Amino acid sequence: MDESHVEGDLVETLFTEQQIQSRLAELAARIEEDYAGRDILHVGVLRGAVMVMADLARHFGRHVEMDWMAISSYGSGTKSSGVVRILKDLDTDISGRDVLVVEDIIDTGLTLSWLVSNLTSRGPASVEICTLLRKPEALQMSVEVRYVGFDIPNQFVVGYGLDYDERYRNLRSIGTLAPHVYS
Ligand code: IMP
Repeated sequence: MDESHVEGDLVETLFTEQQIQSRLAELAARIEEDYAGRDILHVGVLRGAVMVMADLARHFGRHVEMDWMAISSYGSGTKSSGVVRILKDLDTDISGRDVLVVEDIIDTGLTLSWLVSNLTSRGPASVEICTLLRKPEALQMSVEVRYVGFDIPNQFVVGYGLDYDERYRNLRSIGTLAPHVYS
């Protein structure tokens, strides 16, 4: 990893800044093609998806509308609680809109399944999902994820929006955290 202040906390770089950016450019190109002639509303899930939203949007050559939701499904540990709560709702009325949920990572998919059914109940024209990272367990979820950046093994990762206890979000790359940090 590049950042010296966290040296020793990270064991391996999974994706460099450049790898992340080129994958996001590919995804943006596909999305633009799929939604030709339609306006998309990007819905980012705070706080982890901030980096993905910002960089994905900047790969688009068209107007991109963005709104945000904050939901909580994790405490400060590394395990999904399955409990989802809206901390901040959308400001936009999504009825009749083409919604693209932009996520940083899907682990169990519990958060996302809940979110998709919540958004669907508001009468949008469509709801699709774009995630930068997906862990293996997410493959079992019933919700289809249309755009996936990278499938990763079942490891706890940080950086590029992803945190452990609100730290490491500002790293430009994504890596695995040394177990001594959270054990
Ligand atoms: P899920 O409900 O199990 O899919 O959990 C999704 C949420 O858990 C993500 O939006 C992240 O906030 C968090 N999460 C899951 N895996 C990781 C990880 O490896 N590092 C950091 N956060 C994670």
